[in-house]
Amino acid sequence: MDRDQQRDLMLSQLQQRGITSPRVLAAMRDVPRESFVLPDFREDAYADSALPLTHKQTISQPLIVALMAQVLELKPGDRVLEVGTGSGYAATVLGNLCAEVFTVERITDLAITAAETIRQLDIQNVHVRFGDGTKGWPAESLYDAISVAAGGDHVPSALLDQLAIGGRLVIPLGSKPDALALVRIRKIDKDRYEQENFGRVYFVPLLPDTT
Ligand code: SAH
Repeated sequence: MDRDQQRDLMLSQLQQRGITSPRVLAAMRDVPRESFVLPDFREDAYADSALPLTHKQTISQPLIVALMAQVLELKPGDRVLEVGTGSGYAATVLGNLCAEVFTVERITDLAITAAETIRQLDIQNVHVRFGDGTKGWPAESLYDAISVAAGGDHVPSALLDQLAIGGRLVIPLGSKPDALALVRIRKIDKDRYEQENFGRVYFVPLLPDTT
């Protein structure tokens, strides 16, 4: 199978598994996942599985990236915060669906590599920063949507503060790292939130900053 056939197969698998948004499917088709995986895994770039990055981190499974993008209900003018840049792949998919993405990564090397990949692809609307994403990126807030790409037992309050009213936040949530549920939180009003569960997921843990 050549790369186009692999990509088509990935798209039909995503559709079978509940990705119905034409905009999300188009973004998944357009972003070259092979540019974000480690060289040894390029052949597997369009398999629907998570793949290793350096520093014991992983690039998320395409289905999960697509599902998170879909439940965020992104509009072309939205500003989005991502916590956990990893390879920069999910940030680039999100960037395809909105106006600006601000993404924060706590491992310096990963932040540098992701920023370089994004620069090489000539993507202008995805901004990478090294730091503790549980604090968000206050200077660029408010955000219409926030994607937390690592699992925790609670939603960091800074993130809720930086979410606009009407905004959506998606996070793998659970008390045990191996039993996380993908949860969408919608900010209805200053102190009112609506929560919906999108099923069980596997994610690396959301860690506090070490610096
Ligand atoms: N979205 C990524 C995959 C994320 S893996 C991709 O598409 O490749 C989760 C990432 O979250 C890891 O890189 C991990 O280092 C990072 N992370 C964990 N806790 C964090 C925190 N507090 N702040 C920022 N990044 C964090």
